[in-house]
Amino acid sequence: MTAYIGIDKGGTRHTLALADGAGTVMDRRQYAAARAAGAQAEIAQLRAALTELFAVAAARGLEVAGIGVSFGGPVDPASGEVLMSHHVAGWEHLPLARVLAEGFGVPAWLENDANVGALGEWRFGAGRGCQDLFYINVGTGIGGGVIANGRLVHGVMNLAGEIGHMTVQPGGPLCTCGRHGCLESLASGSAIERQYRERSGTARSGREILALAAAGDPVARETVSATADWLALGIGAAVSLFSPELVVVGGGLGEAGPVLFEPLRRRLPDYVIPQRREVRVVPAALGYDAGVRGAIALAMDHTAAP
Ligand SMILES: [Zn+2]
Repeated sequence: MTAYIGIDKGGTRHTLALADGAGTVMDRRQYAAARAAGAQAEIAQLRAALTELFAVAAARGLEVAGIGVSFGGPVDPASGEVLMSHHVAGWEHLPLARVLAEGFGVPAWLENDANVGALGEWRFGAGRGCQDLFYINVGTGIGGGVIANGRLVHGVMNLAGEIGHMTVQPGGPLCTCGRHGCLESLASGSAIERQYRERSGTARSGREILALAAAGDPVARETVSATADWLALGIGAAVSLFSPELVVVGGGLGEAGPVLFEPLRRRLPDYVIPQRREVRVVPAALGYDAGVRGAIALAMDHTAAP
């Protein structure tokens, strides 16, 4: 029987899962990443966890057909290289897919975390059965992924779907990319924290601000409502461009509930081509597991390719 292994290599945590031929998770490992020790130490951690999961697969009579990897940073999916890590030294141009493939004797594939999140929600989550889907992940930053005609869209340099760096307010706040007024600089978790601090003079985490907004705190509500408006603008542009069947919102803000989704759905028709004003915008269904389940989907898609 065929099995797959998915790896979610995040900035602070690594999650690995062994799945059966249908993608159902049978066993998993999760631990804190050895980020201070550098890339080679993190690879040693991955190898140890993979060795355990390969042993579990063998004991159950399963043959691992491939390994999918979600990487929290820029990658080249065609070569299987990590381009760099924003958090950990030593990942520059590291051929991770080849290292894992040679170490374990099975093929391995690599994608960035936003694309993997899109794959996970498409195969196993809120977007099951769709052929066209737009995924936006709103956490500390903002990432996105496009599924069009039943395929993940990469674009040149694997930059398709990077909605976080779409300019929505010329001359707006400074963004992590060095420009001003990107969606990420106005509607990410970090932006919510900054705007709440400016409005109230108090520092709160994004999670706390969402809870305060849900409880009716006027400053928190105003902050979340402004965020919903910027997200409506960005998502509306994406819908007008790709005309997806469905928009899936993942990351911390995907779990915000009605306090975010009500104003977002109310404002969206102002920013989208009129024929698509009823487009569905739904929260992600897999939560934190979108990464590891998407990595499983990545391995499944490659091995099942005609
Ligand atoms: Zn930017």
